[in-house]
Amino acid sequence: MTETLFCYCCRVHHDKSQMRRYPTRQGYRWRCLRSIEAAASSLREREAFGQKQSALNREAAREAAERGLRLRRMLMAAPG
Ligand SMILES: [Zn+2]
Repeated sequence: MTETLFCYCCRVHHDKSQMRRYPTRQGYRWRCLRSIEAAASSLREREAFGQKQSALNREAAREAAERGLRLRRMLMAAPG
């Protein structure tokens, strides 16, 4: 007979070998490795997404600044 523990994350019992003590606001609770890893990888994805977004925002801001500069030069170069 294999020993199982209740996973507070999945709300089901898993094999004890899959379980780790996990710190929560209520104190340490049993949670399976799979749910811990899934949460960690979704956090990494969110962070990667945020970094990509801010890089895109920087790029957009730089392009807008260049467009403004070109426009000003064009207006200054225009006769009259
Ligand atoms: Zn679980």
